[in-house]
Amino acid sequence: TEGTLADIVSHAKEYGFVFPSSEIYDGLAAVYDYGPNGVELKNNLKQLWWKAMTQLNQNVVGIDAAIFMHPLTWKASGHVDGFSDPMIDNLDSKKRYRADVLLEDKAAEYEKNGELARAETLLAEMGRLLTAEDLAGVKQLIIDEQILCPVSKTGNWTDVRQFNLMFSTQVGAVADDSSKIYLRPETAQGIFVNFLNVQKSARQKVPFGIAQIGKAFRNEIVARQFIFRMREFEQMEMQFFVRPGTEGEWYETWKATRRRWHEALGLPADKLRFHDHDKLAHYAKAAVDIEYEFPFGFKEIEGIHSRSDFDLTQHQTLSRKKQNYFDNDVNPETGKPYGNYVPYVVETSVGADRLFLATLCQAFQEETIVEGEGEEQKTKTRKLLRLHPAVAPVKAAIFPLVKKDGLPEKANEIYNSLRHDFRVVVEEKDSIGTRYTRQDLIGTPFCIAVDHQTLEDETVTVRHRDSREQTRMPVSALRSYIGEAVSL
Ligand code: ATP
Repeated sequence: TEGTLADIVSHAKEYGFVFPSSEIYDGLAAVYDYGPNGVELKNNLKQLWWKAMTQLNQNVVGIDAAIFMHPLTWKASGHVDGFSDPMIDNLDSKKRYRADVLLEDKAAEYEKNGELARAETLLAEMGRLLTAEDLAGVKQLIIDEQILCPVSKTGNWTDVRQFNLMFSTQVGAVADDSSKIYLRPETAQGIFVNFLNVQKSARQKVPFGIAQIGKAFRNEIVARQFIFRMREFEQMEMQFFVRPGTEGEWYETWKATRRRWHEALGLPADKLRFHDHDKLAHYAKAAVDIEYEFPFGFKEIEGIHSRSDFDLTQHQTLSRKKQNYFDNDVNPETGKPYGNYVPYVVETSVGADRLFLATLCQAFQEETIVEGEGEEQKTKTRKLLRLHPAVAPVKAAIFPLVKKDGLPEKANEIYNSLRHDFRVVVEEKDSIGTRYTRQDLIGTPFCIAVDHQTLEDETVTVRHRDSREQTRMPVSALRSYIGEAVSL
């Protein structure tokens, strides 16, 4: 069986994946730390994304821009004026909510009850009101839908107000308005302002992309669902610059490519879906989410956005620096080069933490297994993480059967022969069964048992996490065997 969110949260903490931030001070809402296994899993996800983007595409290059940016960046991008969520308070419970999330939850409830048309109508109406910035209308919709406060079960709501999600701080020793800067709420703008630097220095021709992984900060109104919605999180974004008029094709291409990537990493096709946006952001011409079915329902893990020339044009206006590209390619219709234009952008944006959560939810399993034969036979339950070997924190654990007769030395020799290629560990403590259990809990795909026969014929037993099957193989075959399994 699959786990509930509570199962995942406690498993993540107990086995060193995710801890609440500054927990000894009772934590900080919507901020989390990654533990020893978590950081490995997250790094693997990030490296696989980086490779899929930059190494597998000659026309996608990376950058690592600063978190702090010139304040005009956020004026140009529209974040100062428009990056807000509709907020509503319940007067009885004095709790604060995101008005759109209350409505989305209601729609999800309809959907669960099979009332699909009703769900769709509600979402469309919400999208219409938000696009028109009709906040009184949003409040009326909450009242009409008879949405009650999840805590106090009353419908006693305040008006809906817009709340800007950007964190600000002061740079330098003088604290006045001119020294106010923001912590970036998305990594994308670091890419846009470097468009020409990258295009020229990397000698790229449109169409080409710029990829970046980095922290982003949003003062989310409500903290919910563990690492799904954090105030400090990590994004993996790629902006693909295209000739105007070709953005539709590229949008479809990246939509399909990104979905395939999630499937290759182990998220099953039937737990993924595309969801077109009901409300388009200020910059978007078209937008779709790739959603994964979490224990708490289908939710966005990645957004694909067709952003037109909005961002580059805005930066051109505020910086007064041309953001043109000269396209030498010949337009077959005119027989002349396409010439100067501001490229259009198709963006793919995935949250590393959300992807991590989806990966963990998908991998977590509790199953009943039968052990032993005949009279000795007994059933027990085991918990395990069925992680794709490519993302597993530890690829193989090496177990000397006993702590004597030269077996630990042999285990160490095998460890030394593998550690440059894979993250492997040696475990000597406890019974072999206990050691298997420990590795199952963190998702290690292979356990390698070193026994007396190993000393004679250089073979080991490889035990497979998911099937619990065991295969005897030569020590010399281990590297290519594990290597095969961990490649995508
Ligand atoms: P939501 O509607 O859930 O607030 P969004 O549509 O604002 O998300 P985008 O601005 O498209 O999200 O950001 C791209 C990706 O960044 C999202 O798909 C998500 O994976 C990730 N992301 C956004 N906000 C958060 C957050 N607060 N915590 C963790 N990941 C986030």
